[in-house]
Amino acid sequence: MNARRTFAPDDKIDVLLVGGGIMSATLATLLHRLDPALQIVLLERQPAVATESSDAWNNAGTGHAGYCELNYTPEAADGSVSIPRALGINAAFEVSLQFWSSLVEQGVLSAPRTFINATPHESFVWGERDVAFLRERHARLSRHHLFADMQFSEDPAVIADWMPLVMQQRDRSEPTAATRVAYGTDVDFGALTRQLVAALQQQPNFRLLCGHEVDSLQQSANRRWRLQARETARGNRHVLEAAFVFLGAGGATLPLLQKSGIAEARGYGGFPVSGQWLVCRDPEIVGQHRAKVYGKAALGAPPMSVPHLDTRYINGEPALLFGPYAGFTSKFLKQGSFLDLPKSVKSDNLKSLLGVARHNMDLTRYLIHEALQSHEERMASLRKFYPQARSVDWQLAQAGKRVQIIKRCAETGGKLEFGTEIVAAADGSLAALLGASPGASVSVQAMLDVLQRCFAGSLASAAWQDQLRALIPSYGQSLVDDAELLRRVRERTLTSLALN
Ligand SMILES: Cc1cc2nc3c(=O)[nH]c(=O)nc-3n(C[C@H](O)[C@H](O)[C@H](O)COP(=O)(O)OP(=O)(O)OC[C@H]3O[C@@H](n4cnc5c(N)ncnc54)[C@H](O)[C@@H]3O)c2cc1C
Repeated sequence: MNARRTFAPDDKIDVLLVGGGIMSATLATLLHRLDPALQIVLLERQPAVATESSDAWNNAGTGHAGYCELNYTPEAADGSVSIPRALGINAAFEVSLQFWSSLVEQGVLSAPRTFINATPHESFVWGERDVAFLRERHARLSRHHLFADMQFSEDPAVIADWMPLVMQQRDRSEPTAATRVAYGTDVDFGALTRQLVAALQQQPNFRLLCGHEVDSLQQSANRRWRLQARETARGNRHVLEAAFVFLGAGGATLPLLQKSGIAEARGYGGFPVSGQWLVCRDPEIVGQHRAKVYGKAALGAPPMSVPHLDTRYINGEPALLFGPYAGFTSKFLKQGSFLDLPKSVKSDNLKSLLGVARHNMDLTRYLIHEALQSHEERMASLRKFYPQARSVDWQLAQAGKRVQIIKRCAETGGKLEFGTEIVAAADGSLAALLGASPGASVSVQAMLDVLQRCFAGSLASAAWQDQLRALIPSYGQSLVDDAELLRRVRERTLTSLALN
């Protein structure tokens, strides 16, 4: 809680952010840097920020850059591999790295190791078909400057050097292949969020109100938004008015967006998916693996359940995580209610929801099956990656919830999307972030999109443009098209963030 100022309901608020995760923290930081005079208030229902999806234990901490995630490069029936999505995500992650570098250089963020650590990003596959896929994926990606440093090998000895646990006691007669990018990252998005918010709390025009849950919002005739918040500890109610509202409530964004009544929200629904990990903290085992090793998703599995064996650094302590095991849930937040999903069914999204239900029965069955797995069934999946894994060394932990986007579709009534989307009011007075993938990694690009949608006038000014280029040197240019720009940008970020 900000000790400098006490909250007065009739205060003039320019920007009101709902939800204290990485998205709101990033948007608040950007807006404060662009216009320090803005009065910014951040409301969080929990006693502290970053306790839901942005908390390190609730997500995989992968700095998604397309290096290891095979679902970003889908394979067509003729064996060709499509790379545009991986290029886009890589370029978006470079934007995040530049932003964080600037904040580290300016002392806003602490030492890089407190929130980001170099952790090689590796893909591992077995069997002729998947080896051919990985070979083709590497050939296509490594021709592009963004992926020029990606290594490929089918040599078991080389792969064993990259990922010893994965190759221990593995049947070497089976073909295997791997790729590796040494400067992949493990990011503690919880630590990052807390540092961003702590830095904002030093500013007189920023206020953090934890333990305040927003339960209604309405636009007044003067276009300002009136939000009602309930103090979770005492039940007191407050009314806050703001010119601009950002709904960054993670999985709970959808219900708030529905309450806003904006026309752009119509037809949207949410499909929540829970997650679980197997965690190992035995230093002897943890010390033998230093990478994020991603495999291929099982047939019929959703993209967010691609299995991976990860080194994590949480509060400075290394651990190994395997998963996520996706599961069926009706909660939109880890600290949510089982009624979240049923309550989100409205007359305007019923058709979209029914369309998705009709066409995704296999997915629902898959998620229910995953949720009901025994420890030994989960260990069997882990042993495909780490054949020597012993059940006693691994414990189950609950991850966060991801609410996938359901939207209208002319052919099927509704479609399920696995990306991230900004929904904004036409008058630019409200924006909401839906979806969770590639998630926190692209938070800076996502919040730049919010600025584009809702602050277009100010964004066009020389002052905002200059400030953005100071924070993100590639701002306004394409890292996908400009190899020399990428070289300069990456050289700086790898050094500033101690990733090389
Ligand atoms: C299992 C799993 C693995 C993931 N792996 C990765 C990964 O490897 N890499 C990656 O980049 N991303 C990953 N993600 C996605 C990433 O975690 C999210 O995209 C990101 O953390 C979302 O941030 P947020 O700020 O939108 O939401 P959150 O961090 O969930 O924050 C939302 C906040 O809003 C608060 N809130 C909710 N309702 C209200 C209300 N009514 N009033 C006030 N406050 C409210 C909540 O308490 C919460 O603190 C993963 C997610 C999951 C679940």
